[in-house]
Amino acid sequence: MHILGKEGQGAEIFKQSMEWERAALFAFYVGMMDRQLTKALTFTQHRKQFGKSLIKHQAVGHRIANMKLRLEQSRLLLYKACWSIDQGELSPIHVNLSKLSVSESAIQSSLDAIHLFGGEGYKTDQEMESMLRDAIPATLFSGTSEIQRDLIVNALCLN
Ligand SMILES: Cc1cc2nc3c(=O)[nH]c(=O)nc-3n(C[C@H](O)[C@H](O)[C@H](O)COP(=O)(O)OP(=O)(O)OC[C@H]3O[C@@H](n4cnc5c(N)ncnc54)[C@H](O)[C@@H]3O)c2cc1C
Repeated sequence: MHILGKEGQGAEIFKQSMEWERAALFAFYVGMMDRQLTKALTFTQHRKQFGKSLIKHQAVGHRIANMKLRLEQSRLLLYKACWSIDQGELSPIHVNLSKLSVSESAIQSSLDAIHLFGGEGYKTDQEMESMLRDAIPATLFSGTSEIQRDLIVNALCLN
């Protein structure tokens, strides 16, 4: 019989694998948000409506600022999660905070990006709509957002 670890260790091995997955796998979405922001910035600087670049309209600029905020907070939380795993920290709270922030930010920023591109953003020959489709399952796999929030509260109650 082939066995990973020792008998009875399954739950602990699974927990550690999930911590790694919830941190490392979600780095993809930070890269996606970075690319999305660059593309949205370029588009809104070049497209003109009502005599000025889209980005000069305050409501448009604020949406870009929110995308930047989500990107940077997700990136920092991801770095902290990876650092805590590297340090051998037992509490996975930083991993749960990172997974929650990255996944929910990826969906919100994908919706913002489509909105900024207007009708163009909805077309399948643009990357924006496929980024949204990629983002949507992020709050489901590796444990839903509700599970991440449960784990965060549990970790806080243990301290
Ligand atoms: C793209 C994709 C890839 C996946 N890859 C894998 C994989 O590689 N390996 C694997 O094992 N699984 C994988 N999954 C499955 C994924 O882990 C589950 O879909 C996810 O855990 C939700 O479980 P469920 O679909 O049974 O939904 P349910 O558990 O039925 O949940 C439905 C809804 O109810 C909520 N809910 C359920 N229980 C509670 C609760 N106690 N409190 C509050 N809310 C609750 C959920 O958060 C969710 O919003 C993948 C899913 C997707 C979409």
